Amino acid sequence: MIVTVTLNPSVDISYQLKQFHMDTVNRVENVRKTAGGKGLNVTRVLAQLGSAVLSTGFLGGSLGEEIISQLDAANIPHAFTTTKANTRNCIAILCEGMQTEILEKGESVQEKEMKLFLENFHKLIKETDVVTLSGSLPKGVPDDFYSQLIKIAHGDNVKTVLDTSGASLKAVFATKNYPTVLKPNHEEIADLLGVEETREIPKLKTYLSNSLFDEIPIILLSLGAKGAMVKHEGRFYQVIIPKIEVKNPVGSGDSTVAGIADALAKGEDIETLAKKANVLGMLNAQEEITGKVNLANYETLYQQLEWKEV
Ligand code: ADP
Repeated sequence: MIVTVTLNPSVDISYQLKQFHMDTVNRVENVRKTAGGKGLNVTRVLAQLGSAVLSTGFLGGSLGEEIISQLDAANIPHAFTTTKANTRNCIAILCEGMQTEILEKGESVQEKEMKLFLENFHKLIKETDVVTLSGSLPKGVPDDFYSQLIKIAHGDNVKTVLDTSGASLKAVFATKNYPTVLKPNHEEIADLLGVEETREIPKLKTYLSNSLFDEIPIILLSLGAKGAMVKHEGRFYQVIIPKIEVKNPVGSGDSTVAGIADALAKGEDIETLAKKANVLGMLNAQEEITGKVNLANYETLYQQLEWKEV
């Protein structure tokens, strides 16, 4: 089984507007509300793949209940810790090809709720092969929380996939509780190392050769339309992908994480893992809805990927 952790979920609202006017009323006809947060996108993709998945994290208030009913409707098992803090809304205003986002910071999670979550997590991982840890941390949760979860999971021989940024990513290196797979994108790796952003393979190779990464078994550095780069057992590989028609790349990285987790759970080799991760990222980018993948196109795309050592 795969456990997906979403500590800072949201109900994402997208407003599609023909024109966006400031300082007056904007009326919206086209509204979409979905359970959001990176871990929930991972969950949805895993469910479509037919992987046994269980979703956990923090939820609270009426929006928390809305997320639970969406998971129930999709037959996805869940075990969230209820918080006094209300689950937040995140708003995206889509207008003239531009996307303006309004992200609520959310309310604080309390100490006793974190304790409850950890007790539950200890129990959950007993029947688990892989845990995915995705996204930002809610207010009140310490920066090293993912690091704590990685330590607990590895203590039970459960593999971990980490996709986060900023302080919670830095804390993993400070505490040396490294995940089995790290899934940064090119911006996150540059921010972590304090270096210039690049998608050039030779430069990225230098970045990933930093001794900071020596203890991480697999790094899959996703590069959007340029595919991905992989570091595994001290060797570097590139996944070269074909040009595709993109509808909405939001959530492609989450779809990638779902592919990594599925491959890890099945004990697949590194090439299969990397290709699966990329195909799922691409399938997500080809859809309007975040976290949706049309698996009928899986095989055709898979055959078009190139895997080479760099
Ligand atoms: P993140 O959302 O974490 O920044 P990426 O944008 O790197 O992640 O996307 C993850 C994967 O999804 C990429 O490695 C690639 O396989 C696929 N992907 C994302 N954007 C595109 C795109 N514009 N064209 C083709 N594939 C894409």
